[in-house]
Amino acid sequence: MQAGVIAVQGDVSEHASAIKRAARAHGEDADVVEIRNAGIVPDCDVLLMPGGESTTISRLLRDEGIASEIQDHVAAGKPVLATCAGLIVASTDAKDERVETLDLIDVTVDRNAFGRQKDSFEAPLDVKGLDSPFPAVFIRAPLIDEIGEDVQVLATWEGDPVAVKQGAIVGTSFHPELTTDARIHDLAFFDTVEASQ
Ligand code: GLN
Repeated sequence: MQAGVIAVQGDVSEHASAIKRAARAHGEDADVVEIRNAGIVPDCDVLLMPGGESTTISRLLRDEGIASEIQDHVAAGKPVLATCAGLIVASTDAKDERVETLDLIDVTVDRNAFGRQKDSFEAPLDVKGLDSPFPAVFIRAPLIDEIGEDVQVLATWEGDPVAVKQGAIVGTSFHPELTTDARIHDLAFFDTVEASQ
């Protein structure tokens, strides 16, 4: 499996190891490539859009010509996991004109709704398709406040959706790579939600 991790900003090594761990659990080998310029996404089977700063990420994706390649990847029905700022960029509306969203998943998000860096927290989360709670780390996490009718809610926190799925895209407000638990990567890339239903 060829997995691409969008790496226009920040360190993405935790995601790379979570993808490899999830693949290994399925008896597969994942090659992980870091994406900083155009021309690589078309060769990827799955894509990961990590956290960071959504204003910066969306600008770099557009300037580097990667944004339209991600949209083509999704149009072809290939899996994407978008986490935190990645979810903000993947949304249809971030209610912030500095973020050029890619309209990959029909949700409206509220950036930093969970508060600032000091308000980061970890919580055990019930996620559809997982048989025990997932240790979810929220860091300046976006709140998903409107969801389209084709969007499935996989998890909520205090009544609000924090993990969603539409077609082959999974989006999370939290950072699933910051634990040793690779089950979110597993359900995003190996479609274990559908399998469990
Ligand atoms: N709040 C950040 C943003 O708006 C996202 C934070 C994160 O990815 N941990 O881009």
